[in-house]
Parts: sequence; structure tokens; C-alpha cells
Amino acid sequence: MSSAASGPPGRPAGTLGRTLRTLADLAEIRGTAAEAADLRRAASAIDALSPAAAAALVQRARRDKLNNEPGITPTLHWRLRELAATDDELAITAARAAVPGLFRRILEARIVEPEEAVLLVRQLGILTFGELQLALENGRVQQTLGDGVDARLRQAAHAIEADTRTIPLGRARDILDTLSASITACSPAIDLLSVAGDARRFESLVSGLVLVARASDPSLAIDQLCSARGIDEVLHRSGRRAVVVAQQAEVDVRVAAPDEYGTVLFSATGARPHLHGMRARSGHLRLAPREEDLYAQAGLPFITPELREGTGEIEAAATGALPELVSRKDILGDLHMHTIYSDGTDTLDAMVAACCAIGYQYIAITDHSERAGASRTLSRRDLSRQRGEIDMIRERYPQIAILHGVEADIMPDGSLDFPDKILESLDIVLASLHDSARHDAKTLTRRCIQAIQHPLVTIVTHPANRLVGRRAGYPLDFDAVYAAAAETGTALEIDGAPSHLDLDGEHARQAIGAGVTLTIDSDCHRARTLERQMQLGIGTARRGWVEPRHVLNARPLNEVRAFIAAKRART
Ligand SMILES: [Zn+2]
Ligand SMILES: [Zn+2]
Repeated sequence: MSSAASGPPGRPAGTLGRTLRTLADLAEIRGTAAEAADLRRAASAIDALSPAAAAALVQRARRDKLNNEPGITPTLHWRLRELAATDDELAITAARAAVPGLFRRILEARIVEPEEAVLLVRQLGILTFGELQLALENGRVQQTLGDGVDARLRQAAHAIEADTRTIPLGRARDILDTLSASITACSPAIDLLSVAGDARRFESLVSGLVLVARASDPSLAIDQLCSARGIDEVLHRSGRRAVVVAQQAEVDVRVAAPDEYGTVLFSATGARPHLHGMRARSGHLRLAPREEDLYAQAGLPFITPELREGTGEIEAAATGALPELVSRKDILGDLHMHTIYSDGTDTLDAMVAACCAIGYQYIAITDHSERAGASRTLSRRDLSRQRGEIDMIRERYPQIAILHGVEADIMPDGSLDFPDKILESLDIVLASLHDSARHDAKTLTRRCIQAIQHPLVTIVTHPANRLVGRRAGYPLDFDAVYAAAAETGTALEIDGAPSHLDLDGEHARQAIGAGVTLTIDSDCHRARTLERQMQLGIGTARRGWVEPRHVLNARPLNEVRAFIAAKRART
């Protein structure tokens, strides 16, 4: 009897009530308010019991004998059984693993207590790191939770930011597009659904995945979308918002009523400097059904998401100087793709057939040159075999012009990886600095410019040779590269492969400012992704304020041929 009076081993008096309160806080962070209320009620009831009676209640829960007990809901029963079988800390750790990542992080590191975390969610509506940052900046954390919490979160913000996983744009869009399709399929309450956040602006690294849905009954929409295929876990769910896990990534899904949809989508799209600029211009943002209404309220035409970076777009809009951005319909051909002759996975025929289906007027087949670092490259003998096959395929697909080309490596000495005699026989030559040869910026710049000055080179592909999220681009002297490209009539590429997205928007904007002609290519290695990679390239170009007049492959084939010929005529 004495052991019962002192409570079960490992659980001193008062602990159970405290544990249930922590679990209630975690339930509240997940947005399950009813469960939180049950747990809190149970905690108060258990606090009033003697330790022996509390222990007995837990043991009865273990033996399934609480069915007729007043106040014991099925969820609470499940929790008590869990607590009878396991350690309190383990139960709390498990519950903490099921909240949005930001809270998992700050609770594990004990930066805030669970009850403080609840206030961040309930009073400030914070669920993501971006929202926390904004609330810290606005002083709302300090106002609501006081100096101590504010100071601790500020101190931790840097480390949390460094920890916040960014996702390459290609993967981000895959996750969001797949999830959008399955949400649309199972949520008749939703009549409009848009990608938002960094991915909508085609930022190459995405820090938060966001979807915004429109529904006249938002809570019904939340009910429906939470059961969409592909959602592995729901980490938070409230009247207008769900944070879910899909393909191992956290996705923030917001639902707006029709009269506020424009404002929610606008705010969720960012970027923050653009939002600040708009607020400075038009004061507090009203609720509006469409983003266009918000811009009209500010006396501006609609500003497309790719331009919303706070780099002069609001001023340009105000003076009627926004660019007429390049879009998908302007692109008449794709000048960079690979086949099984090098490291592509599809045959020449399959690539050409796919390009015909897309509706291109022309394409260039550009496999890797002999000594490129790719897993498979094109030998000189293969090149003439490929020419023969292209001749045959041209007869089969008269609706499309096929340029026979190559993506030649720029060698460490700045020469090209095929002699001029071979390059001359091709319709188009692309050159690329695949191999840095561990050269410094100066040498890399010299090699790049040497290729630009080669009369047979029409395009320098992915000039910085960056790998999104893995390797920064070469630190070239870009001004010198742009000047040489403009001077010689050599195009620089915006490469749409999700691993490259290079030139990026910022560089592309500088390049056109220096008078450079650009190409936007897919650099596809499989037919299936031709369209998708072209779209990523176009989004990247739009971030760079690129207009159709800057883009070689937005011109008809005769002008492309003339561009190639003009460069070749240089001596
Ligand atoms: Zn390449
Ligand atoms: Zn390539």
C-alpha cells in the first residue's frame, strides 16, 4: 500500500498533471484545440486526486477500464494508456516530433517553454520561421511575450535560419505541383489554388513551401485537403491553415475566403522587400479578392511575382517602365539538349518527337564533346554517325528544323574540345566551362572570354557553372564576360536545368544591361522534362527582367541562323 501512496515508480506526485499540460500545449500548437482542452481538464482533475488515486486511474486506463468514466474522451484515454506504458519524457518527445519544424526546433533547444510557444501560435499566428522573423522585426514578440522570450528568440534566430533547410526550386515545384494536383482532386470546396512563396517567384533556393487556396467555406476546405493523397502527416490544422508533410518536406497550406484571397496570396508570395515597399506606398493592405486590386489601390499596374524583389519594380511600375517580360509563348525553339549519344537517357528520335509535340519550330541537338567530364561523351566517330541519323530524322520530322550541334568543353588552356575543322561542320557550337581545373577567377575569366572570342562559338552555356544548393558559381569577372559577349555577338545562356538555373536572374539582368543576347534552354537529358526545364529557365529569365527582344530563341530560325553566321564571319 505504501508504494501506491507514493505514486508509481518514476512518477513523483504532480508530474502527471504537468505532463498532461505539456501535451495540451503541444496539441494546441498542432491546432487540435479540443484535444488540448480535454488534456487540460484532465490535468486539473488529476491534480485534485491523491497520488495513489492518480496512479490507479492510469493503471485502469492501461487495462481499458475507463470507458464509462465521465470526462474521459477516446483521445484522452489513448494518452493515459500511453502514459501508463511509457516514460513521460518519451511521450512528450513523441508529441514534440509531430508539431511544425520551427516549434520542434525551439522547443527541443529549450529556447521557449511550451506555454510560450502556444502564445506564438495562438496570439501571433506564427507557424514558420519567416513569420517568426517578421514578428521579431515588428516588435510583436516583445509586446506579447516580453523581453526575455524576445531576447532568447532573437539570439537563436541566426542559428535557426542557418538550420532552416532550403529546397532547390526544381524539387520545390515538384512537391508543390504534385500536392496541388492531389488537393484539387479531393477538395471540391477549393475553386482556386496557387503556388506562393519563393517558388512562385522562381527563386532558385526555396526557404518555405506555401500553397494558397480559395474557398467560400475555408474550414470545409481544410477538412477535405488534409486527406489529400501524398500527405504523410498533418503537423498543424486550424480553420484556415494546415501545415502538412509531403515528400518529406513541410508545406504550409493557407485557405482564404474569396474576398481576401488576393491579399493572402500577395502576402504569402513576398519577397519581404517588395511587401515593405508596397506598404510604404499604400499604407495598410486592405482585404482584396485579387492581387490586381491591391496594386490598383496603390496606383500601380499588376507586378508579376518574378519581379517582386524590391529591386526597382515598384518605381518602374509607378512610371510605366515595367518590362514586357519574356513568356512561354515567345519561345520558338530549344538550343541545348542531350541524347544517348552522350549522357542523355533518350534517343535522338524520342527527343525530336517530344519537341515536335511541344510545338517548337527548331531545336539543336548538343551532346557533350569528347573530353567532357560527363558520364558519356561524344567521340569524333560518334559525331559523324549522329550526323547521319539526324539527316534521316529530318526526313521523318519535316515540321521541325534540327540543328546539329555540340556542347564543347572549354579546355584548361581556353581552347575548345574539338578542332575547328570538326566544329565548322556543325550547325551550332555551344561552349562550356564544365571543368574549372581548379583555376582562380582570373584564369577562369580568361578561358571563358577566349571561348567567347572563338568565331565558331554561338552560345556559352551555364556561364557560372553553379550547382543550385551545392556549389556557388565561378567568381568570374562578369562585367568583362558581358562586354566580350556583347562585342562579339555571342549569346550567354540561361540554363533551365534545375541543378543550374544559370545565369541566374540577377546576372541575366546585368547581362542584358550590357547589351548581351541571351538564350533560354532546357539543357534536357530526357524528353519528359523538356517542357518543365524550359519553364524553369523562363521563370529565371523573368527574374532578370528579360524581354523577348533579348532572347535569341524567341526569334525565328532565319534570324538564329543569321546570328550564328554573323559570329562566324568575324575573323
Ligand atoms: Zn553543360
Ligand atoms: Zn548540357
